[in-house]
Amino acid sequence: MWKILVTEKIHPSGLKELRKDPEVELLEKVDMSEEEFFHLVKDVDALVTRSGTSIDKRVLDEAKRLKVVARAGVGVDNIDLDWASRKGVVVINAPTGNTLAATEHTFALLLSICRKLPHGFNDLARGGWNRKAFMGMQLHGKTLLIIGLGRIGSQVAKRAEAFGMEVLAYDPYISARKVEELGVRRALELEGALALADVVTLHTPLTSETKGMIDERTLKAFKKGAILINCARGGLVDEQACADAIREGRLAGAAFDVFSQEPPKNDHPLFAEDIRDRVVLTPHIGANTHEAQSAVSLIIAKNLLAALKG
Ligand code: NAD
Repeated sequence: MWKILVTEKIHPSGLKELRKDPEVELLEKVDMSEEEFFHLVKDVDALVTRSGTSIDKRVLDEAKRLKVVARAGVGVDNIDLDWASRKGVVVINAPTGNTLAATEHTFALLLSICRKLPHGFNDLARGGWNRKAFMGMQLHGKTLLIIGLGRIGSQVAKRAEAFGMEVLAYDPYISARKVEELGVRRALELEGALALADVVTLHTPLTSETKGMIDERTLKAFKKGAILINCARGGLVDEQACADAIREGRLAGAAFDVFSQEPPKNDHPLFAEDIRDRVVLTPHIGANTHEAQSAVSLIIAKNLLAALKG
């Protein structure tokens, strides 16, 4: 019998699959105390988590029977991967389950900032009817620079073409074949590409190389009046420098789903009153669709059973 401890709320579709397996004993314990967690973890074969459970050295040392940690989502920064690997614990995640959700949210952000949707709604709800105040930017004919042409970047490219945008992609790690298949133009150098783009959208992971890739220096290379979208990871952008670029009119606006610190503090530079009319912010909801959460949950269940059964 495999004992599986679910520590956070995940979509029921995957849990149903796990429950169906006669060899599985499923323990669902959302909102456990630390004491209860340490008590239970000693005796389980697998853990199913999201980002809110820290699977650190101490947990891995206590969990003597642990074989698999399944992260329902993409980021595994809450798991000590080196220690897990030393202990022979397999870590699995579901990086493909929310690709389309994040892609669609990128367009939700892009259209919201280009057509000032939240600002128009807020004004209307306050009794305003200021149609001239909400003049927008059309996507058709504009140049979109996609930084990171992986799963999400590629899906963004396809949809941007349907909007009639010219797509440029900067990603030093992808093959010429992939660029050709997608029919996008490849940028070999970042700063030159930034100067050509009306909209820049980020789709890279957060690594030591990409951290702060959009900072005071690179923001100076942007075309005047460009828009910046970040639906990837906080930390890719120096948010203070971005707020300054908006304030000075170098950027026409920015739309972010992710922040270097989450949740962002009240005094976050992008919350500043004087730039609010040029900013759209959402609370890291890029993957929050029923479809994506169901897909992630099913992928995790299937891969977890496969990993346990060898
Ligand atoms: P992916 O691994 O498929 O693609 C990432 C791409 O970035 C790769 O093609 C890689 O070559 C490229 N890249 C790496 N370093 C680069 C660099 N220095 N310059 C340019 N390109 C570089 O990842 P994905 O599934 O497409 O996810 C992209 C990002 O979106 C990740 O940061 C992920 O965590 C994030 N994400 C956010 C949400 C959300 O809720 N907002 C949801 C899903 C994914």
